[in-house]
Order: sequence, then structure tokens, then C-alpha cells
Amino acid sequence: MHGESGYEEAYAFLEWTFLEQILGEIQMSAIIIKWIMQCITTVTYSIQVNGHNTTPFKAKRGVRQGDPMSPYLFVIAMDYLTRIQKTLQTNPEFHYYPRCKRQKTVQLSFADDQLMFCRERAQLIKNVLYAIQMFWSQIFALPKKIIQAVKTICRRFLWTINTEISKKALVGWDKLCWPKTSGGLNFLDIYKWNKAAVGKLLWNLCKNKKLWVVWIHSYYGQNGVWNIQAKQASWVVQKILKASKHLQEAGLTEVNMRSMTQYSISKVYMQMRGTKEKVGWRSLVWTNYGALKWIFIMYLVVQRRLATNDRLAKWRVMQDLLCHLCQLVNEDHDHIFFQCDYAAEIWRSILQWQEIRRNVMNWTEEVQWEMQYMKGKTSRALMYIMAMSNVVYHIWLERNARIFKQ
Ligand SMILES: [Zn+2]
Repeated sequence: MHGESGYEEAYAFLEWTFLEQILGEIQMSAIIIKWIMQCITTVTYSIQVNGHNTTPFKAKRGVRQGDPMSPYLFVIAMDYLTRIQKTLQTNPEFHYYPRCKRQKTVQLSFADDQLMFCRERAQLIKNVLYAIQMFWSQIFALPKKIIQAVKTICRRFLWTINTEISKKALVGWDKLCWPKTSGGLNFLDIYKWNKAAVGKLLWNLCKNKKLWVVWIHSYYGQNGVWNIQAKQASWVVQKILKASKHLQEAGLTEVNMRSMTQYSISKVYMQMRGTKEKVGWRSLVWTNYGALKWIFIMYLVVQRRLATNDRLAKWRVMQDLLCHLCQLVNEDHDHIFFQCDYAAEIWRSILQWQEIRRNVMNWTEEVQWEMQYMKGKTSRALMYIMAMSNVVYHIWLERNARIFKQ
């Protein structure tokens, strides 16, 4: 199995007794806890060895991959751990690991520990959003408030470890919902997905087939539902009728709807999301076979989203804007990658090592050069992308290490 998400393993190690205790502590009723524990403790596994299945054996811990309940249970457990950690901080008996203590005060600057984590957090957020998408969103029109709350929790969860400190999102949530080729992470936009899902209910009304459809027609009007204004209708029915507005915004007309033999929520969702321009730097991130932490830093650097001094100064008062690596010039993305002497030296030798004979350029030119000369999946291109991400990552790591040492 490809180790794309660290949470696959994390799921497998959730202790049952711990989980049961937490569910009790959040005051879930005994019977529900019993049901949940019944579901997760009766799992059996069978492994394929040389094409034959072994005798099934019982699981001893963990929650099931793909079970819609798993992300929720996992989040409950994670939330508990975060809060425990927070209580510890206020306990005078508790001593910080020195780096962490610093981290609490310096906040945004420490990419390695925090952002590396973000990449893995992204996977968990996807799991949670996926569960919402597959279950609730298809049955109900979700109230705006709920959608907003889910979005806020996920957003905060992505960019922070300690949820108390509200940090700047390095990349906006809307953008994270864009396709990967356009610079997003393909997160689900629950708001739009829900509109697309409710659109399916309206499509049913247009096609006039099912029992509840017949009932609504007889109740609210015989002359088509596309333009109906049913003010006296229940909230749910009103939501369904209003879906036509959102479908029209995505370019779908009543005629389109009637001519559809199948309604695909995901197709309508894509249409609602709209086409976004592809970004030139996509190969640097999505054809990158380097470590996840290098890729995530690269993802931020190509968008100039690291918390460099110039950007930090916009959010809070900064006395010293000088580059931590050379102490000569103010720090920004262009300087660190790779105008700074320290960084240029490293990149020059890595270029030489790859037998690429050219000078170190500024960041924009470097990205242009990669797009022009390192196309496709040749081993040379893949190696180049990995080398570049590795250098970028380690320069950023060194920069952070120097702040710690101060
Ligand atoms: Zn410098």
C-alpha cells in the first residue's frame, strides 16, 4: 500500500478502552456507546498469502478504514488529546520540551514541525468531508450555519496544532477546494456539493417519477417545479425548489435537467465549481516523488505563502526583518530562494551535481526554467524536482533552526 496518508496507521492504533472512556466523558448515552463499541470490536481481518486467504482473526484495536463512523471517532479522540495537552500547559509541574515552548510564542514561523503535520491533517480533513459528502449531504439541505461551522473547524484544524491560537491560513479555504492542477488540494466544497446534491432532488421533481415527487406535485403545483415559489412549503421543500437558482448559476437549465437520464452529483458539482486556470508550477508539486514534507513546503513556496519576515510584518509588529541566513538583506521568498548567498551556494552545487550548467536565477525564473526544461516524467525531470524540493525544504528548515537558536 502506498503510504499517502499517515492516518491509515493512526486509525489502526486507536485503543478501544481509550475510545470507550472518551465517549463516556463526552456524555454519550450508554446504549449508543455500546452500539459503537459493538461495531468496532467485532471486526475480523483476513490476510491474503500466496493467493489464499488466511483464517479470519479478530482485531484488537483500531477503527475500520472506509467506515463512515471512523473519521468522527478519530476526531473525537484527537480533540481529547489536544485538550489534554492544553491543560498540561497550565500545570506548573509540567515542563515543556524546549522547542515546543518556543513554538508557542513564535507561532507561525516553524514550518517543519507544523506544516509537515498540515499535509497529514489535509488527509484527515478529506476523510471527514468525504463522510459528510457521502451521507448527510445527499439526504438533507444542510443549513448554511452548519456548513460554515464545519469549514471553520477544518480550516483551523489544518493550520494549527493548538486550536487556541488562531493562526493565519497560509492558503485560503476556497482555493484549497480547487482542483490540484489549478493550485488547490481538491478539498470538497461542502456548500457547493450540498447544492449539487439537493439539485438531484429537484431533478427528480422535474422527471416526475417517484412517490414523494408525485406527492409534492399534487401539493404544490402541477405546472412544473422549476420556477415555483412555494412560500407556504416546508423548509426542506423550499430548499429543494430553490435549487434551480444554483443550477442555473452553473449553467444548467430546466431543459438540460429534463433531458438528463442520469443525474450525477459529482458532475454537477464540478460544473458549479467551474473551470479554473491550470497553474504552470503544478508538476513541481503533483509530479513530485519526494517526501510529503518537502512537497508541502514546495506547495507553499511556489505560491509565496511561507511565513517569511515580509509577510509576518503584515500581521504583527516586527523589529527585525533581516534574513536569518545572511543577516544582510530583508527576508522574503525571492531572497531566500535563492538570491541569498547561503541558499545560492547550495543550489549552485546541487545544479552542478546534476550536471546542469547554468547560473542560479531568481525564483520566478527558476520556476519558469523547470517548466520549460523539466517536462514530463523522465527520470532526469523527476530527480530535478526532488532535488529542488529537498533544497528548498532544507533551506527553510535551517532558517527556522536559526530562529530557535537565537
Ligand atoms: Zn539571506
